[in-house]
Amino acid sequence: MSKVLIIGAGGVGNVVAHKCAQVPEVFSEILLASRNENKCKVIAADVKAATGREIQTASVDAENVEATVALIKKFQPKLLINVALPYQDLPLMDACLHAGIHYLDTANYEPPNHAKFEYSWQWAYQERFQKAGLTALLGSGFDPGVTNVFCAYAQKHLFDEIELIDIMDANAGDHGYPFATNFNPEINIREITQRGRFWEQGEWREIDPLSIHQEYEYPVLGAKSSYLLYHEELESLAQNIKGLKRIRFFMTFSEKYLTHLRVLENVGMTRIDPIEFQGQQIVPIQFLKAILPDPASLGPRTKGKTCIGCDITGTKDGKKKRVFIYNICDHQECYREVKSQAISYTTGVPAMIGGAMLATGKWLRPGVWNMEQCDPDPFMDMLNQHGLPWHIQELPVAE
Ligand code: NDP
Repeated sequence: MSKVLIIGAGGVGNVVAHKCAQVPEVFSEILLASRNENKCKVIAADVKAATGREIQTASVDAENVEATVALIKKFQPKLLINVALPYQDLPLMDACLHAGIHYLDTANYEPPNHAKFEYSWQWAYQERFQKAGLTALLGSGFDPGVTNVFCAYAQKHLFDEIELIDIMDANAGDHGYPFATNFNPEINIREITQRGRFWEQGEWREIDPLSIHQEYEYPVLGAKSSYLLYHEELESLAQNIKGLKRIRFFMTFSEKYLTHLRVLENVGMTRIDPIEFQGQQIVPIQFLKAILPDPASLGPRTKGKTCIGCDITGTKDGKKKRVFIYNICDHQECYREVKSQAISYTTGVPAMIGGAMLATGKWLRPGVWNMEQCDPDPFMDMLNQHGLPWHIQELPVAE
């Protein structure tokens, strides 16, 4: 049994707190800390009502390493689950090293003034975590996260060699607003408006934003327009899946969403550089975030399902083979269970499971690791037990 410190009381933090509270045999005590403690208290009250468990709360600025170290030393957790923003990854990794505890996050570090997604900054901590005998688990959400574990499972059990991977992410949920993002709007819009990228024959290929799309037939949801984006798990999977020839990532967007995004981009509202406004400096995308619906508020309004999975082609026993490994998640069922929509749910459940892998010692190995570098089996079992059951569909091999 382990004490866990959760940092970040947004949509995902809410789910992680609920799900950790549901497994007292793994997480004996929980402290939820965020910039604004009131948000933690609201979540703590909901968790108490749902599970009967008390969770502690605190206020912390995760960018202040000393303050986080002081909080860790006082509470003495075994691990820290970072579900604040990607900007806080490095200071939180530093705090874990100083205080001697394990680290986990769901999104790779991004410098605030440059929309750039890469693992280099966090991989640079490899030696420090190794020397300290501590584990840092990177990207334990759904994508990255479960998608990496699906690929590791396919590599271990379904294929002798994997050649092609398309990660397919469909959200067929409707929240009734003309425009809103399902997780932090600033992080979401920065991801979508950058140039697309995929990996083929050992090289990265770049395309204009959203310039490649396909109609993909998702189980349960049916055909959906899916757009090629760069997504951070491509970087580690391209290195860790042996024999891979191509890996891409696709996400669905409605025409309505894309039209809003185009207009916001054209008028400069998605800019991430500061501008002068009435005598003060503001960053347009941060102002936009302030006026868009809070993703945490979408839960009660969102109806429909998500389907996220990995379409994998390779060979087994000398024969070509193609499978889709996926999960279907229902927005309203998530809301009934933890008062959250499916995007936060599908991120928060794997964050809890990754935490359990560290807390129970199954994935403890000094160093900095991406999910596919760990044994997929215990993680896949916990997905089935904790609300994200997965399925495997055999598909015809594309000529
Ligand atoms: P939210 O914006 O809803 O929540 C972020 C929380 O972090 C807020 O409570 C915020 O506090 C807190 N926070 C921000 N800065 C600090 C700071 N300096 N110190 C302490 N707390 C801070 O985001 P989400 O919950 O939607 O997303 C959380 C994370 O999950 C993000 O990193 C996101 O990229 C990642 N994610 C990963 C996915 C995956 O599948 N891998 C999918 C979706 C999200 P305050 O309210 O005071 O601002």
